[in-house]
Amino acid sequence: MAVVANHRPTKAIVSKGAIRHNIEEEMKRLPKDAQLWAVVKADAYGHGALEVAKVAKEAGATGYCVAYVDEGIALREAGFTEPILVLGVTEPMSTVVLAAKYHLSLAAPSVDWLERADLALKEVNESLTVHLAVDSGMGRIGFVYEEEMAEAKARMSEWTNIEVEGIFTHFATADELDESYFVTQQDRFQKALAILGEDYKYIHTCNTATALWHEAWHSNVVRFGVGIYGMNPSGSVLPLPYELQPAMRIESEIVYVKKQPKGRSVSYGATYTSQEEEYIATLPIGYADGWLRRYSGFSVLVDGQRAEIVGRVTMDQIMIRLPKYYPVGTKVTLIGKDGEEENTFTQAADYIGTINYELTSILGQRLERIYEED
Ligand SMILES: *Cc1c(COP(=O)(O)O)cnc(C)c1O
Repeated sequence: MAVVANHRPTKAIVSKGAIRHNIEEEMKRLPKDAQLWAVVKADAYGHGALEVAKVAKEAGATGYCVAYVDEGIALREAGFTEPILVLGVTEPMSTVVLAAKYHLSLAAPSVDWLERADLALKEVNESLTVHLAVDSGMGRIGFVYEEEMAEAKARMSEWTNIEVEGIFTHFATADELDESYFVTQQDRFQKALAILGEDYKYIHTCNTATALWHEAWHSNVVRFGVGIYGMNPSGSVLPLPYELQPAMRIESEIVYVKKQPKGRSVSYGATYTSQEEEYIATLPIGYADGWLRRYSGFSVLVDGQRAEIVGRVTMDQIMIRLPKYYPVGTKVTLIGKDGEEENTFTQAADYIGTINYELTSILGQRLERIYEED
């Protein structure tokens, strides 16, 4: 059981209002018969799956997507009765049976998988719903060859303990300016539908980027993930068609502050040395919270001003150089707004050469999450 450090001033504050806003704005754009399923895998990209699932439902989401069976079970055990689709590949024997017991829908990536899953289900007299996964170019999971699709179509009636209720694909470049690969994938999915049929309850192709920047093409379900959390899936490449509000900020407080003489160094490796007398403050957060070592040199916000992270980020503590003296207990915004200044996960991601998705997903369990209404 991971310990949550409640007794320190470092918090990840999640705005339910922002989550509601982001879902409601997306829903306004969907065709009347389309649904939004909230993607809450990886503990809702670090935001807290159960809390986000609840708010998403209030805002109009009618189903959920997770990556693994365990994440679906956690939702069921918390009382969610909506459709839940497991996007990853599930081991087609005992885990498939477990999924059936919890009424989870699974991605079906091949004929072999369907055959093995059906066999396992027949043995225990359980039935399962699946969504056929079509690999139109993501190269991750799903049917690639038309012959295999034709075989699946022909043999579907043999798999009597499996109900195929959906078919889907996933785009690899929906967040890019160049649409050529996207169009190739569309064509391939079109061909897949011609072979596997379109007579399914759910057809879905849209992640957030596809929903934002492409026609909700061939979809009556949108798998809305990163948009829920108010982050631009393209980073800073493509402009958003409507405002997404960042759902999480990270705040802390100065827990120690000193006047450091010129020529003294800070942190492991003594990589930073004060060029003059300066105020160095210590904050209780570190790489074990997901506040990465590579954030050294990035700045945080104190009293509406930028303060650089100096020296190496340690496991539990970081040091910042203050523009002037501030006492212990002064609020520090690591991600979020302070006055005119703002830090976002997208900026932090740009700074270290990754994507915003990764930075919220890796926030540690030790970091307390707080939920506010607005
Ligand atoms: C994670 C995932 C999504 C959600 O993607 P976002 O870019 O966060 O909207 C949708 N579909 C599949 C198959 C995924 O794995």
